[in-house]
Amino acid sequence: MITSDDLLGEKAPPQYRLVIDAAVCDAHGICALLCPDLISLDEWGYAAVEAQSFSAGATLRHARSAAAACPEGALRLVAKRG
Ligand code: SF4
Repeated sequence: MITSDDLLGEKAPPQYRLVIDAAVCDAHGICALLCPDLISLDEWGYAAVEAQSFSAGATLRHARSAAAACPEGALRLVAKRG
C-alpha cells in the first residue's frame, strides 16, 4: 500500500529494539557499561533490557556497541516492523 509519506518521499526513521536471550547471558556485565540507557544488571550481574524502541542517535550507537561486545552473543539489535 502506498502512503502519503511514500508519495512525498518522507518516511519515518527506522525503529530498533535491543533483545536479549536470557538463557545465553552469562553475567559478564560489559553490556550495561556500554549501553546504560537500555541495560541494567540484576544482583548477580545478569542483564535486563528495556523494551523501548529507538531510532538513530546515541541510544542506537550504544545498543549496537553492547550487542557487538557481548562475549556470549546474547544481545541482538532488531528492526521493529512498522
Ligand atoms: S555482556 Fe552479554 S553475557 Fe554479559 S551481561 Fe551483557 S548480555 Fe549478559
